Amino acid sequence: MSDNPFRALPSVAKVLASPALAPAHESHPAAAVTAQVRAALDRLRDRLKAGEPLSADVDTIAREAMSALDAQSRPLLRSVINATGIVLHTNLGRSPLHEEAARAAYEAARGYLNLELDLATGKRSSRQSPVRAGLKAVTGAEGATAVNNCAAATVIALRAIAAGKEVVVSRGQLVEIGGSFRIPDVMAVSGAALREVGTTNITRLSDYERAITPNTAALMRVHCSNYRVRGYTKSVELEDLVALGRKHNLLVIDDAGSGQVADLTPFGLPGEPLISASVSAGADLVLFSGDKLLGGPQCGLIVGKADLIQRIEKDPLMRAFRLDKMTLAALEATLLLHRDAKKAVRDVPTLRMLTTPLAELKRRTESFAEWVREIPGVTLGVWEDEAFVGGGSLPDVSVPTVVLGLSAAGLSESELAARLRTGTPAVMARVQDGRVLLDLRCVLERQEAELLGALTIACAEHSPS
Ligand SMILES: *Cc1c(COP(=O)(O)O)cnc(C)c1O
Repeated sequence: MSDNPFRALPSVAKVLASPALAPAHESHPAAAVTAQVRAALDRLRDRLKAGEPLSADVDTIAREAMSALDAQSRPLLRSVINATGIVLHTNLGRSPLHEEAARAAYEAARGYLNLELDLATGKRSSRQSPVRAGLKAVTGAEGATAVNNCAAATVIALRAIAAGKEVVVSRGQLVEIGGSFRIPDVMAVSGAALREVGTTNITRLSDYERAITPNTAALMRVHCSNYRVRGYTKSVELEDLVALGRKHNLLVIDDAGSGQVADLTPFGLPGEPLISASVSAGADLVLFSGDKLLGGPQCGLIVGKADLIQRIEKDPLMRAFRLDKMTLAALEATLLLHRDAKKAVRDVPTLRMLTTPLAELKRRTESFAEWVREIPGVTLGVWEDEAFVGGGSLPDVSVPTVVLGLSAAGLSESELAARLRTGTPAVMARVQDGRVLLDLRCVLERQEAELLGALTIACAEHSPS
C-alpha cells in the first residue's frame, strides 16, 4: 500500500474529460454531470477510508457517474406486475383500469375535451354531468357527484350538511382505514361534532335515539371496511336508522367504503354493502370509493338526494376536491361498463380478477409453470392457497387461489424477491416458508411474457447489472 492512497484518485476535471462521459455532456446539464462525478469520487474516498483497496480508474468512475445520471432521469414511478394475489393493493395503486377507461384518460390527457362545455348549445356546463348520469344509472340515486377520494367525500358531505352540528355514529364503526385515515379525525376536519354511541360490540337503535338533541344534524353508518366485530355483537340495520332519521327529521349518511355496484355475492364475496341497496333503503347520502370494488380510478363518489348533492357542490371545498379531466374521463368510461352488471363483472379488471374461477386460474398457472420450469436452476410447484381482497375490503373473506412456489439455486427467497422487485418490469411476489410465491390472479394476461422474462433474469446466477 502506498503512503497516501487518496493521491491515486483522479481529479474531477480528469473524470469529466473521460470519453465515457461524452454522451452525458450531450444529454445532461453540466452542473448535474459534475455533481455526479463528485459523488462518485466521494464514494471512492469513503471506500478508501474504510480500508478497501482502490479499484477504479478514470473510465470506471466516469461510467459510474453516467449510470447515476441515467437513473436520475428515469421516472421513480414504474409499472409493477402484481403477483401478490391481493387485488386491491393500495401500495400498488388499487384498481387497474379497463382498457376503455385507460384510453379515455389518455385521450383526455393529450388533448382538449368538452370538460365544462355543452357541445349542443355551446354553453358552459358542469364537469359533473357525465359522471352524474352514469352514477344515477348504476345506483338508482336521484343525485350524484364525485370528488378526489372517499375521505374527501366524507369531509365535504359532513361539512355541507352538518358543520357546527352533531352527527351520531356507533363506537363499533369508528374505523381507521389505513394511512391514518380515522373517521373521528375526518369528522373533526369537516366541522361536524362526532357524537359516539353504544360500545365496540353492541349498539342499539335506542342508543342512537337517546343521543339525539336539537343540535343533531345526521345519523351516520360507517361500513367496517377492514375489520369485523364478531361474537356477541349487535349493530343497527340501515333501514332502521333511516326510519329513526325520518321520525326525528334527521339526515342519514352511509359511508359504504368499498361499495359494490355490481353484486359479487354470487361469486362467494359477500359482506360489502351494495350501493343501490343503501339508496333504496332510504339513505340520504351514500359515500364510496371509485378505485375499490367499482374498479375505476381513484375518486370518492357521493350519491343520494338531489338537493343535498347541490349543497355539497356549492360548498367552497368542492373547488379543492373536484376531479381532474383524466379521472373524470376514466370514471365515466368505467360507469358505462357498469351499466351492464354481467359485463362489468366479466370485463372490469378488478372484478374479473376477484371472480376468476379457481379451476381457470389453476389451468393458467399450470401452463405458465411449464415455461418457468425451463429456467435453469429453478425448482417449482403449483398448489392451492388463500389470498385476500385488500384495499380495506372483505377483510374476513379469504379468496381460494392458486400459487406458483419458486426457488432458484444459489438465491435465498428474500434475495430472489428483491431481484424481482428491483428488476424491469418490477415484480411484487409473496415470500412464504422459504419460497417466493407468484399468484397469477392479478397478473394481466398481456404481462405473462414480461413476467417470464423478469423471472429468467432474476434467477440467473449473476445479476445483469
Ligand atoms: C376505503 C374507505 C374510505 C377511504 O376511501 P379512500 O377512497 O381511500 O379515501 C373511507 N371509508 C371507508 C368505510 C372505506 O372503506
